[in-house]
Amino acid sequence: MFDYQKNFKTAVAAVRTEGRYRVFADIERIRGDFPQATYYSANGPREITVWCSNDYLGMGQHQAVTDAMHAAVEKVGAGAGGTRNIAGTTHFHVKLEHELAELHGKESALLFTSGYVSNEATLSTISHILTDCIILSDELNHASMIEGIRGGRSAKLIWRHNDLDHLEELLSVLPRDRPKVIAFESVYSMDGDIAPLREICDLADKYNAFTYLDEVHAVGLYGPEGGGIAQRDGISNRIDVIEGTLGKAFGVMGGYIASTSAFVDAIRSYASGFIFTTALSPVLVAGALASVRYLRGANELRVRHQDRAAKLKATLGAAGLPVMPSVSHIVPLHVGDPVRCKELTDFLLERHDIYVQPINYPTVPKGTERLRLTPSPLHTDNHIAVLNDALNDAWAELRLQYAA
Ligand SMILES: *Cc1c(COP(=O)(O)O)cnc(C)c1O
Repeated sequence: MFDYQKNFKTAVAAVRTEGRYRVFADIERIRGDFPQATYYSANGPREITVWCSNDYLGMGQHQAVTDAMHAAVEKVGAGAGGTRNIAGTTHFHVKLEHELAELHGKESALLFTSGYVSNEATLSTISHILTDCIILSDELNHASMIEGIRGGRSAKLIWRHNDLDHLEELLSVLPRDRPKVIAFESVYSMDGDIAPLREICDLADKYNAFTYLDEVHAVGLYGPEGGGIAQRDGISNRIDVIEGTLGKAFGVMGGYIASTSAFVDAIRSYASGFIFTTALSPVLVAGALASVRYLRGANELRVRHQDRAAKLKATLGAAGLPVMPSVSHIVPLHVGDPVRCKELTDFLLERHDIYVQPINYPTVPKGTERLRLTPSPLHTDNHIAVLNDALNDAWAELRLQYAA
Protein backbone atom coordinates (compact mmCIF):
# COMPACT_ATOMS: atom_id res chain seq x y z
CA MET A 1 0.00 0.00 0.00
CA PHE A 2 1.38 3.41 -0.94
CA ASP A 3 1.82 5.56 2.17
CA TYR A 4 0.87 9.08 1.10
CA GLN A 5 1.42 10.81 4.46
CA LYS A 6 4.85 9.22 4.88
CA ASN A 7 5.97 10.71 1.57
CA PHE A 8 4.89 14.19 2.62
CA LYS A 9 6.70 13.82 5.94
CA THR A 10 9.88 12.60 4.23
CA ALA A 11 9.86 15.61 1.93
CA VAL A 12 9.64 17.98 4.89
CA ALA A 13 12.29 16.04 6.83
CA ALA A 14 14.77 16.81 4.03
CA VAL A 15 14.09 20.53 4.45
CA ARG A 16 14.56 20.21 8.22
CA THR A 17 17.88 18.38 7.81
CA GLU A 18 19.21 21.27 5.75
CA GLY A 19 18.21 23.67 8.54
CA ARG A 20 15.83 25.60 6.33
CA TYR A 21 12.47 24.42 7.67
CA ARG A 22 10.27 27.50 7.63
CA VAL A 23 8.55 28.65 10.80
CA PHE A 24 6.03 31.46 10.43
CA ALA A 25 5.90 34.08 13.16
CA ASP A 26 2.35 34.55 14.42
CA ILE A 27 1.99 38.31 14.65
CA GLU A 28 -0.60 41.07 14.59
CA ARG A 29 0.55 44.48 13.45
CA ILE A 30 -0.56 47.34 15.67
CA ARG A 31 -2.40 49.96 13.66
CA GLY A 32 -1.06 53.45 14.40
CA ASP A 33 2.11 52.11 16.00
CA PHE A 34 4.09 50.88 12.98
CA PRO A 35 6.60 49.08 13.05
CA GLN A 36 5.35 47.56 16.32
CA ALA A 37 3.38 44.30 16.39
CA THR A 38 2.03 41.78 18.89
CA TYR A 39 3.83 38.44 18.72
CA TYR A 40 1.82 35.40 19.81
CA SER A 41 4.66 33.34 21.27
CA ALA A 42 4.38 29.94 22.96
CA ASN A 43 4.43 31.84 26.27
CA GLY A 44 1.70 34.28 25.35
CA PRO A 45 1.51 37.59 23.48
CA ARG A 46 4.14 40.33 23.68
CA GLU A 47 5.11 43.45 21.75
CA ILE A 48 7.91 43.29 19.18
CA THR A 49 9.50 45.57 16.57
CA VAL A 50 9.24 44.43 12.95
CA TRP A 51 12.36 44.87 10.79
CA CYS A 52 11.42 42.75 7.78
CA SER A 53 8.12 44.07 6.41
CA ASN A 54 7.67 44.78 2.71
CA ASP A 55 5.04 47.35 3.66
CA TYR A 56 8.01 49.62 3.06
CA LEU A 57 6.35 52.94 3.90
CA GLY A 58 3.74 51.80 6.42
CA MET A 59 0.95 52.55 3.94
CA GLY A 60 -0.94 49.45 5.12
CA GLN A 61 -1.99 51.46 8.16
CA HIS A 62 -2.20 54.90 6.65
CA GLN A 63 -5.39 56.81 7.38
CA ALA A 64 -5.96 57.63 3.70
CA VAL A 65 -5.89 53.91 2.90
CA THR A 66 -7.95 52.59 5.79
CA ASP A 67 -10.56 55.37 5.38
CA ALA A 68 -10.98 54.44 1.70
CA MET A 69 -11.38 50.78 2.63
CA HIS A 70 -13.96 51.50 5.33
CA ALA A 71 -15.92 53.68 2.91
CA ALA A 72 -15.79 51.01 0.18
CA VAL A 73 -16.98 48.16 2.39
CA GLU A 74 -19.86 50.30 3.60
CA LYS A 75 -20.77 51.31 0.07
CA VAL A 76 -20.43 48.08 -1.92
CA GLY A 77 -19.77 45.24 0.53
CA ALA A 78 -16.93 42.74 0.78
CA GLY A 79 -16.23 40.87 -2.42
CA ALA A 80 -16.30 41.50 -6.16
CA GLY A 81 -18.78 38.67 -6.70
CA GLY A 82 -17.24 37.19 -9.81
CA THR A 83 -14.48 37.19 -12.38
CA ARG A 84 -13.84 40.43 -14.22
CA ASN A 85 -15.88 39.10 -17.14
CA ILE A 86 -18.79 37.92 -14.99
CA ALA A 87 -19.95 40.79 -12.77
CA GLY A 88 -16.56 41.34 -11.07
CA THR A 89 -15.51 44.58 -12.74
CA THR A 90 -16.36 47.37 -10.32
CA HIS A 91 -15.94 51.07 -10.79
CA PHE A 92 -13.02 50.84 -8.31
CA HIS A 93 -11.17 48.46 -10.65
CA VAL A 94 -11.69 50.78 -13.60
CA LYS A 95 -10.42 53.80 -11.66
CA LEU A 96 -7.36 52.00 -10.30
CA GLU A 97 -6.34 50.69 -13.74
CA HIS A 98 -6.62 54.21 -15.07
CA GLU A 99 -4.51 55.56 -12.18
CA LEU A 100 -1.80 52.92 -12.67
CA ALA A 101 -1.59 53.53 -16.42
CA GLU A 102 -1.13 57.23 -15.67
CA LEU A 103 1.48 56.57 -12.97
CA HIS A 104 3.64 54.70 -15.48
CA GLY A 105 2.89 56.90 -18.48
CA LYS A 106 1.26 54.00 -20.32
CA GLU A 107 -1.94 53.71 -22.35
CA SER A 108 -3.45 50.98 -20.24
CA ALA A 109 -3.12 48.80 -17.13
CA LEU A 110 -4.58 45.50 -15.92
CA LEU A 111 -5.11 44.26 -12.36
CA PHE A 112 -4.38 40.74 -11.11
CA THR A 113 -4.99 39.15 -7.72
CA SER A 114 -1.28 39.42 -6.86
CA GLY A 115 2.07 40.41 -8.29
CA TYR A 116 2.92 36.73 -8.52
CA VAL A 117 -0.13 36.05 -10.64
CA SER A 118 0.54 39.06 -12.86
CA ASN A 119 4.05 37.79 -13.71
CA GLU A 120 3.00 34.18 -14.09
CA ALA A 121 -0.05 34.94 -16.21
CA THR A 122 1.51 37.61 -18.41
CA LEU A 123 4.80 35.90 -19.21
CA SER A 124 3.16 32.57 -19.99
CA THR A 125 0.63 34.30 -22.23
CA ILE A 126 3.29 36.25 -24.15
CA SER A 127 4.82 32.94 -25.19
CA HIS A 128 1.48 31.60 -26.38
CA ILE A 129 0.77 34.70 -28.47
CA LEU A 130 4.22 35.28 -29.98
CA THR A 131 4.97 32.19 -32.04
CA ASP A 132 8.59 31.02 -31.82
CA CYS A 133 9.32 33.61 -29.14
CA ILE A 134 12.48 33.36 -27.05
CA ILE A 135 12.68 34.79 -23.54
CA LEU A 136 15.95 36.15 -22.18
CA SER A 137 15.67 35.99 -18.41
CA ASP A 138 18.03 37.49 -15.81
CA GLU A 139 19.37 34.64 -13.67
CA LEU A 140 18.09 36.22 -10.44
CA ASN A 141 14.53 36.79 -11.62
CA HIS A 142 11.75 36.14 -9.11
CA ALA A 143 10.08 32.70 -8.92
CA SER A 144 6.85 34.11 -10.37
CA MET A 145 8.64 35.15 -13.58
CA ILE A 146 10.43 31.81 -13.81
CA GLU A 147 7.12 29.96 -13.42
CA GLY A 148 5.48 32.13 -16.08
CA ILE A 149 8.31 31.50 -18.52
CA ARG A 150 8.23 27.77 -17.80
CA GLY A 151 4.46 27.63 -18.22
CA GLY A 152 4.64 29.41 -21.57
CA ARG A 153 6.96 26.70 -22.89
CA SER A 154 8.78 29.03 -25.23
CA ALA A 155 12.56 28.85 -25.61
CA LYS A 156 14.49 30.48 -22.78
CA LEU A 157 18.00 31.82 -22.36
CA ILE A 158 19.35 32.89 -18.97
CA TRP A 159 21.71 35.83 -18.84
CA ARG A 160 24.12 36.37 -15.97
CA HIS A 161 22.69 38.78 -13.42
CA ASN A 162 22.82 42.39 -14.67
CA ASP A 163 25.59 41.40 -17.13
CA LEU A 164 25.09 43.53 -20.27
CA ASP A 165 27.92 41.86 -22.18
CA HIS A 166 26.38 38.46 -21.64
CA LEU A 167 22.93 39.72 -22.62
CA GLU A 168 24.34 41.19 -25.83
CA GLU A 169 26.27 38.02 -26.58
CA LEU A 170 22.99 36.06 -26.42
CA LEU A 171 20.96 38.63 -28.37
CA SER A 172 23.50 39.09 -31.14
CA VAL A 173 23.31 35.51 -32.41
CA LEU A 174 19.50 35.33 -32.57
CA PRO A 175 17.74 35.93 -35.90
CA ARG A 176 16.66 39.55 -36.13
CA ASP A 177 13.05 38.80 -36.96
CA ARG A 178 12.56 36.25 -34.18
CA PRO A 179 10.48 37.65 -31.27
CA LYS A 180 12.74 38.23 -28.24
CA VAL A 181 11.55 39.21 -24.76
CA ILE A 182 14.04 40.53 -22.20
CA ALA A 183 12.61 39.82 -18.72
CA PHE A 184 14.22 41.46 -15.71
CA GLU A 185 13.66 43.37 -12.46
CA SER A 186 14.68 46.88 -11.45
CA VAL A 187 15.44 46.56 -7.71
CA TYR A 188 16.48 43.00 -6.85
CA SER A 189 14.97 42.46 -3.46
CA MET A 190 17.49 40.16 -1.79
CA ASP A 191 20.72 42.02 -2.66
CA GLY A 192 19.27 45.49 -3.10
CA ASP A 193 21.10 46.12 -6.38
CA ILE A 194 19.48 47.86 -9.35
CA ALA A 195 19.52 46.83 -13.01
CA PRO A 196 21.05 49.15 -15.65
CA LEU A 197 17.69 49.90 -17.26
CA ARG A 198 18.89 52.43 -19.83
CA GLU A 199 21.59 50.12 -21.17
CA ILE A 200 19.18 47.19 -21.32
CA CYS A 201 16.78 49.37 -23.33
CA ASP A 202 19.66 50.31 -25.67
CA LEU A 203 20.29 46.61 -26.32
CA ALA A 204 16.58 45.99 -26.80
CA ASP A 205 16.50 48.76 -29.43
CA LYS A 206 19.62 47.46 -31.16
CA TYR A 207 18.30 43.89 -31.43
CA ASN A 208 14.60 44.69 -31.74
CA ALA A 209 13.66 43.00 -28.44
CA PHE A 210 10.59 43.55 -26.22
CA THR A 211 11.21 44.56 -22.60
CA TYR A 212 9.33 43.18 -19.56
CA LEU A 213 10.27 44.83 -16.26
CA ASP A 214 9.25 43.73 -12.74
CA GLU A 215 9.23 46.89 -10.61
CA VAL A 216 7.67 45.21 -7.57
CA HIS A 217 10.32 46.51 -5.14
CA ALA A 218 10.43 49.99 -6.68
CA VAL A 219 6.85 51.14 -7.28
CA GLY A 220 5.79 53.72 -4.72
CA LEU A 221 9.43 54.12 -3.67
CA TYR A 222 11.40 55.58 -6.59
CA GLY A 223 10.72 58.26 -9.17
CA PRO A 224 9.14 61.67 -8.51
CA GLU A 225 5.65 60.11 -8.25
CA GLY A 226 6.62 56.61 -7.16
CA GLY A 227 6.51 55.20 -10.69
CA GLY A 228 9.63 53.10 -10.00
CA ILE A 229 13.21 53.06 -11.27
CA ALA A 230 12.06 53.51 -14.88
CA GLN A 231 10.37 56.74 -13.82
CA ARG A 232 13.39 57.82 -11.75
CA ASP A 233 15.62 57.29 -14.79
CA GLY A 234 13.14 58.98 -17.13
CA ILE A 235 12.77 55.95 -19.39
CA SER A 236 9.29 54.55 -18.65
CA ASN A 237 8.41 55.10 -22.31
CA ARG A 238 11.25 52.77 -23.37
CA ILE A 239 9.99 49.80 -21.32
CA ASP A 240 7.29 47.80 -23.10
CA VAL A 241 5.68 46.25 -20.01
CA ILE A 242 6.00 47.43 -16.40
CA GLU A 243 4.75 45.00 -13.77
CA GLY A 244 4.12 45.94 -10.14
CA THR A 245 2.48 44.94 -6.88
CA LEU A 246 -0.06 46.68 -4.68
CA GLY A 247 1.03 44.57 -1.70
CA LYS A 248 4.43 46.02 -0.83
CA ALA A 249 5.04 49.79 -0.85
CA PHE A 250 1.34 50.40 -1.57
CA GLY A 251 0.55 48.36 1.52
CA VAL A 252 -2.57 46.51 0.34
CA MET A 253 -2.80 43.54 -2.07
CA GLY A 254 -2.91 42.80 -5.78
CA GLY A 255 -0.68 43.04 -8.84
CA TYR A 256 -0.75 44.71 -12.25
CA ILE A 257 0.85 45.33 -15.60
CA ALA A 258 0.98 48.64 -17.49
CA SER A 259 1.68 48.79 -21.23
CA THR A 260 0.13 49.66 -24.59
CA SER A 261 -3.61 49.15 -25.10
CA ALA A 262 -2.84 46.45 -27.66
CA PHE A 263 -0.71 44.47 -25.22
CA VAL A 264 -3.06 44.83 -22.25
CA ASP A 265 -6.04 43.86 -24.39
CA ALA A 266 -4.22 40.72 -25.54
CA ILE A 267 -3.39 39.64 -21.99
CA ARG A 268 -6.94 40.46 -20.85
CA SER A 269 -8.26 38.27 -23.64
CA TYR A 270 -5.92 35.28 -23.35
CA ALA A 271 -4.40 34.97 -19.84
CA SER A 272 -5.99 32.14 -17.92
CA GLY A 273 -4.69 33.52 -14.59
CA PHE A 274 -6.59 36.73 -15.29
CA ILE A 275 -9.79 35.38 -16.83
CA PHE A 276 -10.73 32.47 -14.59
CA THR A 277 -10.43 33.91 -11.10
CA THR A 278 -12.62 36.16 -8.97
CA ALA A 279 -11.65 39.82 -9.24
CA LEU A 280 -9.87 41.53 -6.35
CA SER A 281 -12.22 42.71 -3.63
CA PRO A 282 -13.34 46.30 -4.31
CA VAL A 283 -12.32 47.05 -0.71
CA LEU A 284 -8.71 46.16 -1.52
CA VAL A 285 -8.89 48.05 -4.78
CA ALA A 286 -10.24 51.16 -3.04
CA GLY A 287 -7.40 50.97 -0.52
CA ALA A 288 -4.80 50.52 -3.25
CA LEU A 289 -6.23 53.41 -5.23
CA ALA A 290 -6.00 55.70 -2.20
CA SER A 291 -2.44 54.52 -1.58
CA VAL A 292 -1.25 55.07 -5.16
CA ARG A 293 -2.84 58.52 -5.23
CA TYR A 294 -1.36 59.47 -1.88
CA LEU A 295 2.15 58.28 -2.75
CA ARG A 296 2.18 60.08 -6.10
CA GLY A 297 2.21 63.30 -4.10
CA ALA A 298 4.31 62.18 -1.11
CA ASN A 299 7.91 62.57 -2.19
CA GLU A 300 8.93 63.48 1.37
CA LEU A 301 8.14 59.89 2.40
CA ARG A 302 10.46 58.55 -0.30
CA VAL A 303 13.22 60.93 0.82
CA ARG A 304 12.79 59.89 4.45
CA HIS A 305 12.78 56.20 3.43
CA GLN A 306 16.16 56.56 1.68
CA ASP A 307 17.49 58.53 4.64
CA ARG A 308 16.52 55.73 7.06
CA ALA A 309 18.17 53.10 4.84
CA ALA A 310 21.38 55.15 4.63
CA LYS A 311 21.39 55.67 8.39
CA LEU A 312 20.90 51.96 9.07
CA LYS A 313 23.66 50.92 6.64
CA ALA A 314 26.05 53.47 8.15
CA THR A 315 25.28 52.45 11.75
CA LEU A 316 25.67 48.71 11.20
CA GLY A 317 28.69 49.23 8.94
CA ALA A 318 30.44 51.36 11.60
CA ALA A 319 29.90 48.54 14.10
CA GLY A 320 31.70 46.14 11.76
CA LEU A 321 28.61 44.08 11.01
CA PRO A 322 28.73 42.39 7.56
CA VAL A 323 26.31 44.66 5.69
CA MET A 324 26.18 43.52 2.07
CA PRO A 325 26.57 46.19 -0.64
CA SER A 326 23.15 47.58 -1.63
CA VAL A 327 22.26 50.70 -3.58
CA SER A 328 18.62 50.65 -2.56
CA HIS A 329 16.42 50.70 0.54
CA ILE A 330 17.15 47.02 1.26
CA VAL A 331 19.79 46.27 3.90
CA PRO A 332 21.05 42.67 3.73
CA LEU A 333 23.29 41.35 6.51
CA HIS A 334 25.42 38.34 5.58
CA VAL A 335 25.31 35.18 7.74
CA GLY A 336 26.19 32.44 5.23
CA ASP A 337 24.62 29.42 6.92
CA PRO A 338 20.95 28.44 7.31
CA VAL A 339 21.24 27.02 10.84
CA ARG A 340 23.14 30.04 12.18
CA CYS A 341 20.75 32.35 10.41
CA LYS A 342 17.80 30.76 12.19
CA GLU A 343 19.64 30.80 15.55
CA LEU A 344 20.31 34.48 15.05
CA THR A 345 16.71 35.43 14.29
CA ASP A 346 15.43 33.27 17.19
CA PHE A 347 17.88 35.07 19.49
CA LEU A 348 16.78 38.51 18.29
CA LEU A 349 13.14 37.65 18.82
CA GLU A 350 13.48 35.87 22.17
CA ARG A 351 16.06 38.15 23.80
CA HIS A 352 15.42 41.49 22.14
CA ASP A 353 11.81 41.44 20.87
CA ILE A 354 13.08 42.15 17.35
CA TYR A 355 11.52 40.35 14.43
CA VAL A 356 13.57 39.65 11.31
CA GLN A 357 12.86 36.59 9.18
CA PRO A 358 15.90 34.45 8.18
CA ILE A 359 16.39 34.37 4.40
CA ASN A 360 17.50 30.94 3.24
CA TYR A 361 17.70 28.82 0.08
CA PRO A 362 15.85 28.72 -2.34
CA THR A 363 15.08 32.42 -1.87
CA VAL A 364 18.85 33.09 -2.01
CA PRO A 365 21.74 30.81 -3.14
CA LYS A 366 23.14 28.40 -0.50
CA GLY A 367 26.03 29.93 1.42
CA THR A 368 24.57 33.44 1.16
CA GLU A 369 21.92 33.06 3.88
CA ARG A 370 21.21 36.42 5.42
CA LEU A 371 19.00 38.79 7.35
CA ARG A 372 17.15 41.19 5.11
CA LEU A 373 16.37 44.41 6.95
CA THR A 374 13.77 46.81 5.59
CA PRO A 375 13.86 50.20 7.32
CA SER A 376 10.80 52.39 6.81
CA PRO A 377 10.19 56.11 7.30
CA LEU A 378 8.67 55.13 10.67
CA HIS A 379 11.83 53.47 12.01
CA THR A 380 13.36 56.11 14.28
CA ASP A 381 16.99 56.71 15.27
CA ASN A 382 16.13 54.94 18.49
CA HIS A 383 14.80 51.86 16.66
CA ILE A 384 18.08 51.76 14.73
CA ALA A 385 20.21 52.12 17.88
CA VAL A 386 18.28 49.35 19.64
CA LEU A 387 18.64 47.07 16.62
CA ASN A 388 22.37 47.78 16.39
CA ASP A 389 22.87 46.90 20.08
CA ALA A 390 20.82 43.72 19.70
CA LEU A 391 22.76 42.61 16.64
CA ASN A 392 26.10 43.21 18.36
CA ASP A 393 24.88 41.23 21.37
CA ALA A 394 23.87 38.39 19.03
CA TRP A 395 27.14 38.53 17.11
CA ALA A 396 29.09 38.17 20.36
CA GLU A 397 26.83 35.57 21.95
CA LEU A 398 26.62 33.36 18.86
CA ARG A 399 30.24 34.06 17.80
CA LEU A 400 29.30 35.20 14.33
CA GLN A 401 31.77 36.69 11.86
CA TYR A 402 32.24 40.45 11.76
CA ALA A 403 33.09 42.07 8.40
CA ALA A 404 36.66 41.49 7.23
C1 LIG B 1 6.93 39.71 -3.97
C2 LIG B 1 7.37 39.68 -5.43
C3 LIG B 1 6.46 39.42 -6.46
C4 LIG B 1 5.06 38.98 -6.16
O1 LIG B 1 4.26 40.04 -5.77
P1 LIG B 1 3.02 39.71 -4.79
O2 LIG B 1 2.12 40.85 -4.97
O3 LIG B 1 3.59 39.57 -3.43
O4 LIG B 1 2.43 38.42 -5.28
C5 LIG B 1 6.87 39.55 -7.77
N1 LIG B 1 8.15 39.90 -8.08
C6 LIG B 1 9.06 40.11 -7.12
C7 LIG B 1 10.44 40.49 -7.50
C8 LIG B 1 8.71 40.00 -5.76
O5 LIG B 1 9.62 40.17 -4.81
